[in-house]
Amino acid sequence: MKVERLGDRVHYLPGFPYAAIVVTDDGVVSFDGPMLPGPGRAWRRHVDAQGPLRASFLLEHHMDHVFAASYLEPPVLISTERTDADFYATTESEEGARKRLLALDPDSAEEIAGLQLRRPDLTFSERLTMTVGGSTFVAFHAPGHTPGSMVVHAVEDRVAFVADNLSPGLSLAFSMGSADVEGWFPTLALLESLDVDWFLSGHGEPCGKEELGAHRERLLETIGVVRELRDRGLSRTAAEAEIVRMPIWDAWGRSARVPYAPTPSGAAPPVSRTAGIARIYESLDQHTPTSTKGPDVEAE
Ligand SMILES: [Zn+2]
Repeated sequence: MKVERLGDRVHYLPGFPYAAIVVTDDGVVSFDGPMLPGPGRAWRRHVDAQGPLRASFLLEHHMDHVFAASYLEPPVLISTERTDADFYATTESEEGARKRLLALDPDSAEEIAGLQLRRPDLTFSERLTMTVGGSTFVAFHAPGHTPGSMVVHAVEDRVAFVADNLSPGLSLAFSMGSADVEGWFPTLALLESLDVDWFLSGHGEPCGKEELGAHRERLLETIGVVRELRDRGLSRTAAEAEIVRMPIWDAWGRSARVPYAPTPSGAAPPVSRTAGIARIYESLDQHTPTSTKGPDVEAE
């Protein structure tokens, strides 16, 4: 296990997803963590060696994020209210989550059988500020990659933990599967406003503010292409079939830094990669006026 650092106090573990801690003057605060038991155990040893764990933040409800608290056993696990409400939206149930974990890591069968998912102990709706060992953490409900996503600004350390709201190591097509499409834009503006040097993402190396513009552009381009197909009268399923044949599909399917195997021609694209198109359709449906006629304005 190779732990990386941003300065002395911010440690992160590249993995699926990226895990991170801030070592304060009086204990440790953690952000997400490894999904599988082996890396989970190793990360726990590293965290314990830095001091007592005071709190953990669960940054979103996806299955690769929710198991970390079972390994780290923090005294308090914090999420947004929406993440807590969506807790079983992708794992279906405790049993379903364990089955999917087992499929990924059959060698850890015994440990997985005894794993209990940990639900958040403390939730907030908009913003929460916490001080630990003289370090300030400001947590924001920041929808985008998921409706309940959270961003935490470690003020003195000039880092924001953004989970998959930025995902330089994950394709956008994959990342939009349960997105709050229009909510993502104010979140990018929030990230722009934070006084930080680094964003630590759930998938991909730490990045700076240059990633914000690139991400916004990719989102707008994706929405634009889907809108055009929808305006031509295509159903969502027809649009999915059409998009796979368009040159842009490869660009969405591929992340900036991770090789991606394209969908073989003739094969249906995996749902994990087309679900984002459904999210964009829903968003456009909600925001398209039923009449193109403007409001009646009486002449003065
Ligand atoms: Zn996710």
